[in-house]
Amino acid sequence: MVILEAKGVRKVYRGDGVETEALRGVDLRVEKGEFTALVGPSGSGKSTLLHLLAGLDLPTEGEVYVGGVRLDRLSRSQRARFRLERIGLVFQAYNLLPVLTALENAAFVLELRGVPKGERERRALEALAALGLKDKAHRYPRQLSGGEQQRVAVARALAAEPLVVLADEPTANLDSRTGLALIERMKALNEAQGVTFLFSTHDPRLLEHVRRVVRLEDGRIVGEEVR
Ligand code: ADP
Ligand code: ADP
Repeated sequence: MVILEAKGVRKVYRGDGVETEALRGVDLRVEKGEFTALVGPSGSGKSTLLHLLAGLDLPTEGEVYVGGVRLDRLSRSQRARFRLERIGLVFQAYNLLPVLTALENAAFVLELRGVPKGERERRALEALAALGLKDKAHRYPRQLSGGEQQRVAVARALAAEPLVVLADEPTANLDSRTGLALIERMKALNEAQGVTFLFSTHDPRLLEHVRRVVRLEDGRIVGEEVR
């Protein structure tokens, strides 16, 4: 089953009289259960593609589908609702809230969805446990290491039981050992629970555990490896 699809996607940013063609005709399909990395140099369009797949922004041309729903035909509020219900995000823009504990952060998307307290705490705790953070559930983000904070962010995405988890440079602020440990955790969730992941990275050392690697350069997919 195809979970994510981009068809002929172009994205042009316009502002201050400057035009940047960030994506120049991208076709990508991700099936349920995949563990796929988007790689490519800084500025190649990884983040733009993830934003479009998350419905956070609209393509200039082309079509974007998530779980068979055409996102670029939805209104902004329909996209926000769809995202909340079906997509897990690990994005810089959705950092942990500093005033909430790990548990409250992990339960936050469920709270926005109106899931009752008991159930959302149970699901959030389960997700934290799956990321090895059960004993840190009541800590605040500042009391956690960078790697632990990112694991809470993945737990928050997971607790919502999304169709797919989209992660934009989830290891960006981690040293390479901690970054590798995070990718290994994500891979374990993929294997044990069948969670579909699409994440970007510019660190080629993290790719050992990744089955499918899609390479972007200058707004185009220029290659792909499947092992
Ligand atoms: P990556 O994630 O691979 O580093 P991005 O998708 O962030 O690449 O950027 C692709 C191109 O689009 C770059 O040239 C970048 O400067 C440009 N870009 C990204 N976001 C914006 C924006 N909001 N406004 C204008 N240009 C942007
Ligand atoms: P706004 O201020 O526009 O409500 P939010 O930061 O609350 O923006 O979030 C924008 C949308 O993304 C909302 O629908 C929100 O519920 C959703 N959202 C926020 N964090 C996540 C996440 N981790 N996973 C999925 N959806 C999220």
